[in-house]
Amino acid sequence: MASTSKPSSQRPATGVIVPKMEHPPQDTIPAEVPDKDNASGEAWTSEMQYVSSLAKLQKMEATIHQLRTLLSGRLMDPIVPIVSPKAASRRPLPKSPRELFEQLSRTARASVAEVQEFQAMWRSPEIKAIWDHVDARIKQNGGQLLQPTGMWERDYDVLLEELEKEERAQTEQQQRVKEEEERAKIKSVEGGWRTIVEIFVQRNLPGVRVMAHQDQPRITVVLVKAGMAFQLQAVNGDGHDMVDWRVQDMAAPGKPKTKLETAVAACLNARPRQWDLAYLLDMIASYSDVKQTPCAKCGKMTDNTAQLPSIRRPNPIQSSQGQPVVWEAYHPACIDSSQSSHPISS
Ligand SMILES: [Zn+2]
Repeated sequence: MASTSKPSSQRPATGVIVPKMEHPPQDTIPAEVPDKDNASGEAWTSEMQYVSSLAKLQKMEATIHQLRTLLSGRLMDPIVPIVSPKAASRRPLPKSPRELFEQLSRTARASVAEVQEFQAMWRSPEIKAIWDHVDARIKQNGGQLLQPTGMWERDYDVLLEELEKEERAQTEQQQRVKEEEERAKIKSVEGGWRTIVEIFVQRNLPGVRVMAHQDQPRITVVLVKAGMAFQLQAVNGDGHDMVDWRVQDMAAPGKPKTKLETAVAACLNARPRQWDLAYLLDMIASYSDVKQTPCAKCGKMTDNTAQLPSIRRPNPIQSSQGQPVVWEAYHPACIDSSQSSHPISS
């Protein structure tokens, strides 16, 4: 016990490496924050930035409190039954020195991992940005520390959650309004869906044949280069006074659907904007080069089940409003792992 309070001039015999609490090597520290017209001060404009930063600091403080219970507490726990049987409330003594040693190394390793995790958090770029911002504000303030009350007055992670929820609701609302406008625009197109097909045909995409049926709301699309055909059918929409467009199960008459066509049809039918025929036609046309377009994630043509990239997704950055959609190809398996981080945008 006494040895723990001595400076650690000797290496512990257990082989546990105690991390040094010093700054990382100089070359990993980014250039100093500009103090005049500081960038970080200007970049912090939203409430969200402040709240999320405070939430991070609050979490870090909670971790510090947790770490305080390490020394003389959790770290030394295995020897409590020996030095203070009463405090151990009749917990059995370790059966052998070897068992005690193993218990001690286990707790020591876990403790070191805890400290390392904290250090990594402390030195992370996101926390550094917060410190930089605080430094910049202190400089702006003529070197005076901003005086807090010394306690957390709000639970910032709760506040952050509320803010994020609000922001999501706002985005959804905006999207609904935007979609409503687009629907109205499509409804007002003279000649209805046939005009939309006509506009698409006028794009003259090589190898893409589109035929509208004479008396039914039905369209056949043939991708010559890819050797695929799709039948589109108008179906009842979801109560928006507009039809939806579905890709039918059958391929060209007398020709069974290939595995690729089935996979592509499934992806087409899972698209957002089911009512948007122009969007669907554009998406189908993006399959023209299906046999030459590698997956945007793994960069390969076929995955380990010999499947071509049968998924198409709008590139979220390049497909901004009012611009033609930029489609990206993916293998179904490659998209599963990134589902949550890249939701299909509508
Ligand atoms: Zn892939």
